[in-house]
Amino acid sequence: MTGIVLDIDDTLYDRQKLISDAAGEVLGITFDEQQRRRFVDEFYRCSDSNLARLERGEITTVESNSWRYGTVMEMFGLGDINAGHRAAELYLSMQSSMAVSPLLSATLDRISVIDDVILGIITAGQAGHQWSKFDRLGLDRWVDRDRTIVAGEVGYTKPDVRIFEMMEDRLGLTPENLWMVGDSMKHDIIGAAGARWHTIWFDRRGSSSDISGVSYRPDFTVHSEDELCDALCSVCVTNIPLT
Ligand SMILES: [Mg+2]
Repeated sequence: MTGIVLDIDDTLYDRQKLISDAAGEVLGITFDEQQRRRFVDEFYRCSDSNLARLERGEITTVESNSWRYGTVMEMFGLGDINAGHRAAELYLSMQSSMAVSPLLSATLDRISVIDDVILGIITAGQAGHQWSKFDRLGLDRWVDRDRTIVAGEVGYTKPDVRIFEMMEDRLGLTPENLWMVGDSMKHDIIGAAGARWHTIWFDRRGSSSDISGVSYRPDFTVHSEDELCDALCSVCVTNIPLT
């Protein structure tokens, strides 16, 4: 039996595009690729400052994102906290259009029906917000709700090894049979490695800064959804029946 545990944000859908699109629209600018990457990198860096408060329910997702947008806009001289708040509201409304890509959907369709493969999800963030993403993305097509752990509900978050051990109990599997799939080296991959799981790192942002000082190397590092789907199929290959 193989357990494949997925992160949601920037793993199952392209969150960073929504983040930069909302900022660009509010500011009336079009980022070039380098600007977009710098903006998103700083936006994600800000998350470390208030994720714990968000998951404890002390601030809302919109409050957290307003602060993050405002901080990054001020950093680059593009806007202020008011513009940040407008971007956070727009980002929230744009999330209604989020979707799992046809390619990734087809791969999940394929691997989720394999008898010896179980899928799970571990996601960071505030519970209501993450469950609404779960519903909007239609993730119950592939993952049971009781095999989904939202950090905001359990009192600790990635990379805390306890959240991975909780998933081991939920799936009834041991580390050597478990794979974590996520975009964050610091949270998804280092956390899972600490629990002695196998790992697939989806380096969607090409974030070499994410691995500075990190000696651990994931089992797979992929840079596109094509490569991610190939890696998922490789992990399952011994479990996929011959047709
Ligand atoms: Mg993520």
